[in-house]
Amino acid sequence: MNGLSTSITGRAMNKGLLSVEAINIRDFSHDKHQSVDDYPYGGGAGMVMQAAPVVESYEYICQKTKKKPRCIYLSPQGKTFHQRMAEEFSKEEDLVFLCGHYEGVDERALEMIVTDEVSIGDYVLTGGELPAMVMIDAISRLLPGVLNNEESAVTESFGLDGLLEYPQYSRPEDFRGRKVPEVLMSGHHANIAKWRKEQAIFRTKEKRPDLYEKYLLNNRTKT
Ligand code: SAM
Repeated sequence: MNGLSTSITGRAMNKGLLSVEAINIRDFSHDKHQSVDDYPYGGGAGMVMQAAPVVESYEYICQKTKKKPRCIYLSPQGKTFHQRMAEEFSKEEDLVFLCGHYEGVDERALEMIVTDEVSIGDYVLTGGELPAMVMIDAISRLLPGVLNNEESAVTESFGLDGLLEYPQYSRPEDFRGRKVPEVLMSGHHANIAKWRKEQAIFRTKEKRPDLYEKYLLNNRTKT
């Protein structure tokens, strides 16, 4: 979880807005080699994480927090992570991220403790740690006080209207002959807002026709 201690998430941790603790499932192993995997019943490739250490590590967290936090199993078989999920999870006081390894986790442990199964995309990684870090990053930037400008999470891509964000420019006004659109330097807030909305619609249509269709549908049903 070292990657989270830099930049925005790192600052949020230093300010006490967020804390992340890694629990080593091996500490709950039942044998002297601290192993937590075994062969799959029925044969087949690879190893499976055993139920007992996984369930006991979750029970340890429940005892420690005196709560039964939502337990998210990172899995390629889960629902694909998206911004609305990040918003929903950001409202929780505590979250547990269960990171699988090998061929995955004994199904009985999943039945007993998992409340949400989430994937970060249709590809298979070796473990759940990177997906957990992706989710923690996306969720933590929605917590009050984490971003300097609270508005930026609302106007960003996948924000309230479901569109991609408009193009952004900074100094200089002219970079190798490419000029910043004039409207952005006009100081006319209504025109700037109108231009940004048009650009957001245009680029969503170009880059993500699937999102554009949803946007049209939502706005058709609203009128
Ligand atoms: N045998 C499993 C299957 O076919 O569904 C894949 C296991 S994968 C090699 C090992 C672990 O990596 C999983 O238990 C999960 O925690 C994590 N993982 C792999 N791909 C992932 C993805 N796309 N999203 C979230 N977690 C993933």
